[in-house]
Amino acid sequence: MQHHILILGGTGEARNLAARLKGRCRLTLSLAGRTRNPPEQPVPVRVGGFGGAAGLEAWLRREGVTVLVDATHPFAARITANAAAAARAAGVSLIALRRPAWQRHEGDRWREVGTVAEAVAALGTAPRRVFVALGRQELAPLLSAPRHFYLVRSVDPVEPPLALPSVAYLLARGPFAEDAEEALFRRYGIDAVLAKNSGGDATYAKLAAARTLGIESVLVRRPPVPADGITVASVDEAVRALAHSVPALSATVSAERGA
Ligand code: NAP
Repeated sequence: MQHHILILGGTGEARNLAARLKGRCRLTLSLAGRTRNPPEQPVPVRVGGFGGAAGLEAWLRREGVTVLVDATHPFAARITANAAAAARAAGVSLIALRRPAWQRHEGDRWREVGTVAEAVAALGTAPRRVFVALGRQELAPLLSAPRHFYLVRSVDPVEPPLALPSVAYLLARGPFAEDAEEALFRRYGIDAVLAKNSGGDATYAKLAAARTLGIESVLVRRPPVPADGITVASVDEAVRALAHSVPALSATVSAERGA
């Protein structure tokens, strides 16, 4: 049987998984097309939405996909729900690659909330100086609290700029280093960090820097995930899970174990 793996991506893990599987079986990586200049991907890529769960199901059938890997961001809840529904309907195996959420450590001053709007409310009534690490599409709730200064970091420019009296923008793509985050917070006099609990190494440094400086972090909790399929926490685990379904990969996994 000729296998075809579709990886739903937009994360570093998806890119790393694609690199690990490259040349070993038929593979397609799917991107939503949100960022203007996405990092180069190591395998064939398709870009743009599928048209909901039904569109994704049709794509899986048409392209003869045998395994679907949902390696999207932990906050990308819609595509994750669509992936579960489409895999079920098309009878395709589903593997969800979910990096673990960040855990609170001693010295952390965390507040965990359900939404960005709740996070903004949690900043309180007195003016604060807030470092904002959210997606460009998630910033609208900041408008409800114009009393704060916001330092907004994003991969692509925020357009149009936010209608706020006191805001600065930084363009950068992770990974970020802890000492650089500390220096940034000192330079701007930051006293609160507003972010999602995305997990992973690439963007954790802001929380470590906040801990060191005694800065409060307001974190949005992750949305729940559907219970379908197999869930793995790392690229290594994903490769091992895939090797169960795709015989061409089991030789790779055995060779790597022996190496
Ligand atoms: P979302 O709300 O779950 O998805 C919205 C729609 O975008 C989906 O219904 C789907 O359109 C399309 N889509 C999302 N991911 C796709 C993919 N990998 N391939 C093809 N279509 C996709 O997701 P989002 O929060 O907008 O995130 C979009 C992408 O950015 C994801 O790939 C995610 O991994 C990445 N990302 C998200 C975040 C975040 O915090 N949300 C952070 C970093 C990266 P159709 O219904 O038309 O198929």
